[in-house]
Amino acid sequence: MKTLGLLGGMSWESTAIYYRLLNEIVRSRLGGLHSAKLLLWSFDFAEIAERQHHGDWDGAGALLTGAARKLEAGGAQGLLLCTNTMHKLADQVQAAMSIPLIHIADATAMAIRKAGLQRPALLATRFTMEQDFYTGRLADKYGLSPVVPDDAGRDMVHRVIYDELCQGVVSEVSKAAFIVEANRLRREEATDSLIMGCTEITMLIGQRDFDIPVFDTTRIHAEAAVEFALS
Ligand code: GLU
Repeated sequence: MKTLGLLGGMSWESTAIYYRLLNEIVRSRLGGLHSAKLLLWSFDFAEIAERQHHGDWDGAGALLTGAARKLEAGGAQGLLLCTNTMHKLADQVQAAMSIPLIHIADATAMAIRKAGLQRPALLATRFTMEQDFYTGRLADKYGLSPVVPDDAGRDMVHRVIYDELCQGVVSEVSKAAFIVEANRLRREEATDSLIMGCTEITMLIGQRDFDIPVFDTTRIHAEAAVEFALS
């Protein structure tokens, strides 16, 4: 089994979920006392979020590449960025390392394609919904047509991610708002599936809340990582 390096703490709420999932998936694949071989670098998310919201992507990139190099030097054989948003810097991080970065959008897009779906709604941070690094990759590389909420919807989803989920707050009101938003996109934009495109959204909603297929990027990413580690 290969050792996976995790760039986490973005936020730690979802990194904790990754830790559990990676170990559970390895146990379900190998049985007994088997567990995942992991190295974790966990950021102080305040330092990352401040750079995101000031548009200081160079500064954020320097933090990420510095930590990724340390994980590689420590023995990591594959890298996970435990956040959708920071995949904005995936190419830069990959260029700084010789081990492969397992890309969350690639794993998610392949799962959607495998299910024969094409027009997913995307709920995520404003960065992920509005900038090209994520939706453009889904479209150009995989022929998908992701749909994002309108401005008010994007605002609500972004706010819930940073002000609630990343701070450990799970609210029934926000859960209902996410479900309303996803159902509106289905009705008005004919979406055929839903991407939970932020690694904390799994704290709030899941397949149980919808009758269209839901793609949980945290789980999909963890599954792809274990597949790599055991290959
Ligand atoms: N974990 C979130 C994501 O998957 C948001 C936090 C971040 O900006 O990294 O996008």
